[in-house]
Amino acid sequence: MFSKILIANRGEIALRVIRAAREMGIGSVAVHSTADADAMHVRMADESVCIGPPASADSYLNFPAIIAACEVTGAEAIHPGYGFLSENANFVQIVEDHDLTFIGPTAEHIRVMGDKITAKDTMKKLGVPCVPGSEGGVPDLETARTLSAEMGYPVIIKATAGGGGRGMKVATSEADIAHAFQTARSEAKAAFGNDEVYIEKYLQKPRHIEIQVFGDGRGRAVHLGERDCSLQRRHQKVFEEAPGPAISAEERARIGKICADAVARINYTGAGTIEFLYEDGEFYFIEMNTRLQVEHPVTEAIFGVDLVREQIRVAAGLPMSFEQDDLQINGHAIEVRINAETFPGFAPRPGKISAFHAPGGLGVRMDSALYDGYSIPPYYDSLIAKLIVHGRDRAEAIARLNRALGELIVDGIETTVPLFHALLQEPDIHSGQYNIHWLERWLAEME
Ligand code: ADP
Repeated sequence: MFSKILIANRGEIALRVIRAAREMGIGSVAVHSTADADAMHVRMADESVCIGPPASADSYLNFPAIIAACEVTGAEAIHPGYGFLSENANFVQIVEDHDLTFIGPTAEHIRVMGDKITAKDTMKKLGVPCVPGSEGGVPDLETARTLSAEMGYPVIIKATAGGGGRGMKVATSEADIAHAFQTARSEAKAAFGNDEVYIEKYLQKPRHIEIQVFGDGRGRAVHLGERDCSLQRRHQKVFEEAPGPAISAEERARIGKICADAVARINYTGAGTIEFLYEDGEFYFIEMNTRLQVEHPVTEAIFGVDLVREQIRVAAGLPMSFEQDDLQINGHAIEVRINAETFPGFAPRPGKISAFHAPGGLGVRMDSALYDGYSIPPYYDSLIAKLIVHGRDRAEAIARLNRALGELIVDGIETTVPLFHALLQEPDIHSGQYNIHWLERWLAEME
């Protein structure tokens, strides 16, 4: 086992990894920008290294500074968290070239899955059901027009290099296709430096269902059921739950096995998420994320496992500590993502926290890097806390969420907590009847 690992991230996910390392008796090294000198992850880690100025490009994405921090501190492995360098194949390659271990999949797996066209192609060959669409990239508008007419509108144009909901445009009819195609392309070029796009049938009322998988890198893999992340704003998740309210045990077993077998066949290492749209009883693959997800705690809650511990074990060459039959679902879990943003409006509101109190009690987990007097810097993601509740069933989880939100105090800044209070007034949230469009429609009605 490693004696020391470096966490190439900040905020709540850096704490999450430090906590797992500490329970395993592994030392932790935090890295931080100058803007984060007072951040909680720096305080909580055993050691810390400043890696650059506030801009992420110069600090949390700065390869040489991060590698140098490993060399200076003697850290043997790097946990990337999510975002930043977590899905950067070039970084993984450089880590390995320096005889360090990347706690995650291989550069090759990241590369294949990071390109959505090769990802879809690979999954199709592995027997995973995919959204109907173009075979590979669509080179020009004429091809887009012909394919869309064949497929039938509506269609969605998506960036091959896409992520974070960017570079995606829906065309509802032939009249929109030129505009959708061109804007998706230019958005993709601006965001990812790659303007390749592909086309998919646009599903009208799907749920977003994702399967958590875990592999040992030597041909063994398991699945840990699904998460329903249908409540989204601008293709970004805000409320996630497990198990999915619309998924039966039979469906879970069937799609779970397809996913576990697929990643076993490619010798996938560590945690991964296979994302699907789910409509009328069918699953359609959209992408695979080759990292720990923001919403992983709901899976941990219902299966009683520590996914970060497992990632570290497998990266160190140890076997997984569970097999498929050991993984049984217990109860229901919900996570809400609390952002430093206005509600409604969702405008970022960094600033100083004048008072902070985290909720507690049975079945409540708060993953947050906030503390009394902390100043949230304006340079990074606005996620400030994840509140995760676990109950014996969905109704109990919802009651617990309501109770925990009531206990939470974050004074001094605006947050999206009022969004969740309002959602908990909605009968559709209580009945679990929502799809990927529900939240946007509800927000539009509020205006
Ligand atoms: P990103 O990597 O940018 O997050 P995804 O491919 O994961 O992009 O898609 C994000 C979200 O966009 C999905 O959860 C869903 O809400 C919507 N979406 C993507 N593809 C389709 C599709 N073919 N039909 C309908 N909605 C889609």
